[in-house]
Amino acid sequence: MNFQDGSMYPEHQDPLVITCAPYGPEWMPADFPEDIPVSMKEQVQKAVDCYNAGATVLHLHVREPDGKGSKRLSKFNELLDGIRSRVPKMILQVGGSISFAPEGEGEVAKWLSDDTRHMLAELNPAPDQVTIAINSNQMNVLEQMLPEDTAGTSLATPESYRAYREMTIPAGPEWVEEHIRRLSAKGVQTHFQLANITQLETVERMMRRGACNVPLILTWVAIGGGFDAPNLYNLANFVRAVPDGAVLTLETSMLNVLPLNMMAIALGLHVRCGIEDNLWTQDRKAKLGSVQQIEQLVRIARECGREVADAPQARRIYRIGEFYASAEETLARNGFAPNRRPGQRGFVQHALAA
Ligand SMILES: [Zn+2]
Repeated sequence: MNFQDGSMYPEHQDPLVITCAPYGPEWMPADFPEDIPVSMKEQVQKAVDCYNAGATVLHLHVREPDGKGSKRLSKFNELLDGIRSRVPKMILQVGGSISFAPEGEGEVAKWLSDDTRHMLAELNPAPDQVTIAINSNQMNVLEQMLPEDTAGTSLATPESYRAYREMTIPAGPEWVEEHIRRLSAKGVQTHFQLANITQLETVERMMRRGACNVPLILTWVAIGGGFDAPNLYNLANFVRAVPDGAVLTLETSMLNVLPLNMMAIALGLHVRCGIEDNLWTQDRKAKLGSVQQIEQLVRIARECGREVADAPQARRIYRIGEFYASAEETLARNGFAPNRRPGQRGFVQHALAA
């Protein structure tokens, strides 16, 4: 991404798209009973509350009535339907290839089979987005957490701690390409959740081959444990590698969330918050609910003069419903250099928009 003079002035930035992840599949309801919705009615209401507070993208997982993470498609359909009827314009993003709620307390996180994960393309009503991981990877969500972050929660129990520390994401090339193809065929946008630059490079290669003709709407997930650490240098290198036509959201965990989101607000990027990412106020003296986290970001954005996107603006910025016909169009729309022709080494300038 280019940052020309004035790039930090709000008038040169898109309105801020706030993604909220309020369902916290790694927690059990007792970890934060005031804020973790359990019944279907409560789960729908949580989405409405997030929307009313300023979040236009909802990252969702579903809980069963007993409080455990659901892997039943019917429950996803029920929640999607319930939210659509209350806040029809909110962008609904289903946490896809990373489905990481253990079936039972202390049970090792089980991965859905590849075929079952493809069923995410069959959700009804269809969500706007499904998140996808690229290249199988370690996802040790505990590595960036201190003992204070999980103290007194279910994540501090030895069984849960081990399960989430040893977690891996299966996302091999064959599965990824097929998954994107199926989502696109159903009009569902692929939202890329990337751990580092090597995964971004794989996405670029897919786009160059014409295997991935979609907008590059992505999140840099800087949570360590196989993913980038959330520091200035990793962020700068990643942002530099992202083409200008992409839409970039920043994500990290625990007390890193607020400072990284403040950088995103300043730089014209987009933010993600919610109890899936962080449970605490910055002094760790109290837990901070998802809606309060959204309200905090809205306040900070206002102080920076950065407008917060409403739902129609967020849908335009996220290019919901946009798909491309060819590698050439995909590269141009996302701001990549064009594919070279025989005899050329490559290009140093961008493709012209089609
Ligand atoms: Zn998630």
